[in-house]
Amino acid sequence: MLPFKLVYSDDYYLPIGSHVFPAEKYKCIRDRLLASGIAVPSDFVTPSPAADEDVLLVHTPQYVHKLKTGTLTALEELELEVPYSPELVSAFWLAAGGSVLAADHALNDGVAISIGGGFHHAFPGHGEGFCMIHDVAVAIRCMQRDDKIRTAMTFDCDVHQGNGTAVIFSGTHAPGAPVPSAWGSVLHPNHPGRRRSVHAEDVFTISLHQQNNYPAFKPPSSLDMNLPDGIGDDEYLACVGDALSLGLGKLKPDLICYLAGADPYCEDQLGGLSLTIEGLKERDAIVFRIAKAEGIPVMVTLAGGYAIKLEDTITIHSNTVVAAKEVYGGTS
Ligand SMILES: [Zn+2]
Repeated sequence: MLPFKLVYSDDYYLPIGSHVFPAEKYKCIRDRLLASGIAVPSDFVTPSPAADEDVLLVHTPQYVHKLKTGTLTALEELELEVPYSPELVSAFWLAAGGSVLAADHALNDGVAISIGGGFHHAFPGHGEGFCMIHDVAVAIRCMQRDDKIRTAMTFDCDVHQGNGTAVIFSGTHAPGAPVPSAWGSVLHPNHPGRRRSVHAEDVFTISLHQQNNYPAFKPPSSLDMNLPDGIGDDEYLACVGDALSLGLGKLKPDLICYLAGADPYCEDQLGGLSLTIEGLKERDAIVFRIAKAEGIPVMVTLAGGYAIKLEDTITIHSNTVVAAKEVYGGTS
């Protein structure tokens, strides 16, 4: 039995037909975790859909109304890059509920993992890049509204920049939150990651992503690590430690929301970095070790993963649970 919870529902499945996004991955990961003995059935908890009032903490009433009534414009549906249906709306509301539940469990147990979520390309008033609503942002705003946390940090390791996250949390300050001044020169000039930073809020946003990839326009996160094409495990893992340490030096949050994207993988169809499966597992372990050492709870969502072989995506995501188990302990 794991010393933390896995949040999962069969209804995480996204009804989008044949698509580069492998909507069946969530169930495959659950099955893998059980078949391999990494988890047992009692490790899983089932989420409920987010309430509309929770979603409205992040998204505009106009956008929520369009989603609920099926009145997106053709352009808005095109931008979403997944086919609209009422069932898809339900799946995204459930993903948001799953992230809320995972955040709650993380605050209790030190870590929790939703076997879903991480839809970081959703903006307050529109969705894009397979992301209809921003589950992680909904979870953060719910925890803040309910006085369970005051501050949070998003640590986004999906290969694509977290543009929705950056916009949602730009310019919002919690009373008394530390506001860092401009960054000093911290990284070595030859370091592969080029940093850009502008602001700090009650939610400090960090994104490690491939510079030459979607989205073309990258609104500034609190800290962006713009990675060059093709970097491998060693350089990437150095950036992970640097970015997290830098961020925690500016804000020690009440909750870290880790987006454990599988798409920095070398055989990803939508990524251009060169990480190995082992490197990605070590990435997860670094995040967990640092968070545990700092005593900060971590809520994990999976985000993207488009490996040529679905099995590899399943392995990478399953390894996130393995890494958490190794860091936080547990027997099964
Ligand atoms: Zn991605």
